[in-house]
Amino acid sequence: KRIALEALRDLPSQTLCGRRIGLYANAGSMKDLPLLGAVHPDGVGLFRTEFLFMEQPSLPDVPTQTAFYARVLETLSGRPVVFRLLDIGADKPLPYAPHPHESNPFLGWRGIRFLLGNPGILRGQLEALLLASASVGAEVRIMVPMVSNVSEMRAVREILDEIIPRTGGRALLGMMVETPAAALTVRSYKGLSDFISIGSNDLTQYTLAADRENSLLSGLYAETHPAVLRLMASACRDARECGMETGICGEFASRPEGTILLAAMGFDELSVSPSAILETKALIRSLRLSAAQELLARVLELPDSASVAGETAAFISREA
Ligand code: PEP
Ligand code: MG
Repeated sequence: KRIALEALRDLPSQTLCGRRIGLYANAGSMKDLPLLGAVHPDGVGLFRTEFLFMEQPSLPDVPTQTAFYARVLETLSGRPVVFRLLDIGADKPLPYAPHPHESNPFLGWRGIRFLLGNPGILRGQLEALLLASASVGAEVRIMVPMVSNVSEMRAVREILDEIIPRTGGRALLGMMVETPAAALTVRSYKGLSDFISIGSNDLTQYTLAADRENSLLSGLYAETHPAVLRLMASACRDARECGMETGICGEFASRPEGTILLAAMGFDELSVSPSAILETKALIRSLRLSAAQELLARVLELPDSASVAGETAAFISREA
């Protein structure tokens, strides 16, 4: 089976009926980059920059960050790389940045909220990304985590507009859709956000009010809940209608039921862990989009995640 999968490495990620679906890799550190050579993703759909910050004893300065981002861009040699801005707080603490005690950290000062409260860190990171872009001569894609209000994207856009002419770098700016608020108001970000990427891990926990790390809730935490699927489908449709590129970088994209339903929703790209690239490509290449779209229409009307999972499993054993 391994040999058969390896034969897919240089074949395009497209459905049986010929629709291209970009297949990107998630990465968190330099250690992930050599893995990419073995599977040839179309790009990196989520580079989790917080690991650079968490692995250092103190805040990395702008030159250190610039060199790091430039190496990532060089390794991908022209393929798109989406850098997520520092996503600190909740499950990802930063040892050297003071953080107040919070009784609900997942509903607290995390992601863009933390960055707007630490404008020096935000500016430094944006500047380093743009300097890396200028030095390598490649466009960077910058993605904002934990967005729930347009004011947050407006604030990042303003800083970026000021930095770009100074650095000579090129950037696209996008938002993660990790909160139901962001999913339901995607249209309000037209002109502010060039692309969206669904963070299905967080979107699921915030939609179902089920902590993604609490094993007592593992039966409730399910991306296949129709409420979560409807949010993803409507965010994708609205973003496409506004001319934004659409991607997803949460774990759901790498599970067979996720790959099928997300392809049916019309996402331009799926970003999965490097180890899941070839299996995901094999599934995409076996997929008839019209059949997947019929399945999607049916499951969106089902009452719960168990029935969606059952219906999707039956589809997989029939079709894939
Ligand atoms: C997500 O929330 O789906 C996501 C990709 O971000 P993280 O898992 O790092 O929170
Ligand atoms: Mg997240």
